[in-house]
Amino acid sequence: MKTADRPSARNPGELSVSASDLAASVLKSIVLAKADELVELFYDAFLKDEEASAFLSHSVVHDRLSHSLRDWLLELLQAGTRNDHTDFADRQRAIGEVHARIKIPIHLVLEGASLIKRTVAHYLMRSSLDRETLGEALILLNHRVDCAMQFMSQAYVSGTMRRAQLDESFRLFSLGQDITLERETQRAALMEWSQNILFTLFGAGPAASLKPISSSPFGLWFYHRAGILFQEATILESIDGAIQQIDKVLLPKLHDARTAGSSTLAEPLERLQALIEEIKLLMTELFQNVVGLENGRDPLTRTLNRRFLPSILSREVAIASRNGTPFTILMIDIDNFKNINDQWGHSAGDLVLRQIAEIILDTVRPSDFVFRYGGEEFLVGLVEADVEQGFQVAERIRQVLMAHELRLSDETKFSVTTSIGLAAYEGHPDYAYLVEAADKALYEAKRAGRNQTIIASS
Ligand code: GH3
Ligand code: MG
Ligand code: MG
Repeated sequence: MKTADRPSARNPGELSVSASDLAASVLKSIVLAKADELVELFYDAFLKDEEASAFLSHSVVHDRLSHSLRDWLLELLQAGTRNDHTDFADRQRAIGEVHARIKIPIHLVLEGASLIKRTVAHYLMRSSLDRETLGEALILLNHRVDCAMQFMSQAYVSGTMRRAQLDESFRLFSLGQDITLERETQRAALMEWSQNILFTLFGAGPAASLKPISSSPFGLWFYHRAGILFQEATILESIDGAIQQIDKVLLPKLHDARTAGSSTLAEPLERLQALIEEIKLLMTELFQNVVGLENGRDPLTRTLNRRFLPSILSREVAIASRNGTPFTILMIDIDNFKNINDQWGHSAGDLVLRQIAEIILDTVRPSDFVFRYGGEEFLVGLVEADVEQGFQVAERIRQVLMAHELRLSDETKFSVTTSIGLAAYEGHPDYAYLVEAADKALYEAKRAGRNQTIIASS
């Protein structure tokens, strides 16, 4: 399609210039004629999609987007008037940034583009173009839509990443504030709200309305702060459920009961107390998890929390690739750990886990990374260590553990063995590949009789 842009095409390409112009103008006229239909088609398809319809159902959004989608289509496919490529690219990027801002999933945009391509291609094929021109028009169509999508998704991804980084740093910043104080403040706010409800119900004053918990200081904190601070989606959902239950069901009931006479108040009041207790418990859990996660560490073993694994490992793999330095990971799993739990109880098992983590942390260098990968599984990232060095470290961990007498509070002593899978970075850019390889090697070690280190075969 470049030939259409080339000013002096005094060569065999000349013919194809006019052919391309023809192709371009056919494309243009089809899009002009069918623009409204394409826009409708786009919306019909998207309104059927649950995820997408949430973005499009608002009437203002619908009207505005209809217009801009129409304009976008016309600009996109009105080839021939496209002498300003940077303008075009800038506009696509601006659209991508809007999508990122309002969090439209990128796959929906790509699906929309694909739908438009298919539909226009269909019309092109029904026109009476000769084979060659039809081919050119199809290529032009694909090229223009794909270019737009490239610019759009580029801006979308960097916009989304920027936002995620900001969210995360705000979260960490907020967590750095006094989290215990925050917990006490919100507990007090919750209690104050419920006391106010009681005062309103039984107080001597005129019957005032019962204030919803969702708009109380506690509710406002919950809906506008907690979601950023905490990532425990299930606990947040449960608290939200309890709040909705109170505001939508219990408060109206209490309101009616008050007018009907206080004898009917007992049952809804009891329910209310129970729900407040439930929220208090959930809040405790929410804060406990955060206190445990301070500095990203697992509360039991003080090793790194698994949720940091993706960012740390992908960074280390990138460093290894850029600098040509080695990087090795170990997957360590305690042998027959279930027996320890069964024989001495779960808290003895916890104690063992803590002692084992300590030994691993003492054996590796401070620059290495030790994650709690699963229940009794640890993943160790050994920076700038190759297979041989990694193997030595793995064996040292295994030997030290085996020789170490683990003690329970009642002076019971015993030792445990471990199986270790080792995988060294060999150039694959995806850290998950490395983790998988170490996992497979670990499985081999278990199968070969446990208490040994196996190196992943490349
Ligand atoms: P294998 O040698 O094949 O690894 O045997 P295993 O018994 O260690 O393996 P399995 O994965 O079957 O059992 C792991 C056990 O670890 C099951 C679970 O009860 C226990 N476990 C997981 N997390 C914890 C924890 O945080 N504390 C305690 N005490 N036990 C845990
Ligand atoms: Mg296991
Ligand atoms: Mg095990």
